[in-house]
Amino acid sequence: MGTVTPGSRSRYAEYVSDVVFSAKNVFAVGPQGFGTYRAEWSPTAREWSFSPPTGPAELALVPGFVDMHIHGAFGVDFMTASSDELRQMARELRRVGYQALTPTTVTASLAATKEAVSHAEADDMFVGFHLEGPFISPKHPGAQPSSFIQPIPTESSDWDPLLEDAGLRQITLAPELPGADDLISRLSRRGVVVSMGHTDATFEQVEHAVALGASQTTHTYNAMRPLHHREAGTVGAALLDSDIYTELIYDRIHVSRAAASLLVRCKPIDRLIAVSDSTMAAGMPIGAELKMWGLDVVVGDKQVRLKDGTLAGSGITLLDAFQNLWEDFGLEAAIYACSINPGRRLGVSPKLWNLFNLEGHIIQQLESGEKPADF
Ligand SMILES: [Zn+2]
Repeated sequence: MGTVTPGSRSRYAEYVSDVVFSAKNVFAVGPQGFGTYRAEWSPTAREWSFSPPTGPAELALVPGFVDMHIHGAFGVDFMTASSDELRQMARELRRVGYQALTPTTVTASLAATKEAVSHAEADDMFVGFHLEGPFISPKHPGAQPSSFIQPIPTESSDWDPLLEDAGLRQITLAPELPGADDLISRLSRRGVVVSMGHTDATFEQVEHAVALGASQTTHTYNAMRPLHHREAGTVGAALLDSDIYTELIYDRIHVSRAAASLLVRCKPIDRLIAVSDSTMAAGMPIGAELKMWGLDVVVGDKQVRLKDGTLAGSGITLLDAFQNLWEDFGLEAAIYACSINPGRRLGVSPKLWNLFNLEGHIIQQLESGEKPADF
């Protein structure tokens, strides 16, 4: 079943708003794990029941996507958006399969970060926020504005209210920075996902941070110390330590298929976390010109670049990542990486259900619980 691949695909799936679903044979993660089931939807209880299949699967049943790392989409940027704009973005993301997300800040001033976070409850789909920076390595800023990188405060600081905010679900930091040990312990102890990224940490420094509670790597391979045969680096630790959850931007641009294959082969299936790391450019028409983080950017085909051609962040949503993962690594890996694993990390249980045809398009969405689907 891992060999099922989508064929021709459109950028965004068409969906059918409808609560009628007659029993069908589907690929799903069901009571016996991943396999083919006959799935029946109860429109009154609004839940699935599974029985043995009566024939080959015609569809794939995929829990709503959960994105732990997303800066914006559909022309909306978390750093500057109003609550109304964020709600509009959430509606668009729902149409492409999202159930939940943690809107993510970029490295910025304290005032700008606080302003962004003040909108982190704009929509029910938002389940807290992710602080990316400012405590990152100046050696690996990636697209983060370097001028706002901060040392980790070793005493009480103006950043404390943000670090103590109950909505903080994930922080991306460089664990080798002075003061990181205390911050990692303090945050991981209260359940914040401490993710190592934009980092120059050696293999040993990563293992030290893991012992203190760090548990994830941010966009694995990108903006981190690479694997060297004498010093395996952050990447080596991410590949080798099966406890570490590993984010992956799988647009096939940020990480090649070969490097992604290595990650998929090394990691237990429950440790791969697909993220979009998307910017406001995701979902915008090709050729659109936008102002983003003070830069003039042009939207390309599932990518966004500066006018001189430099990559300026990600232009995919998790739907694109899901389709790419399905095509390259099979449906089971795609479902775990885009829905189940990030959902478990954030305590989100499946509520939205995406029905995909075997070409990789969403053809119907259903929602569990009392609230009827409203798309
Ligand atoms: Zn990011």
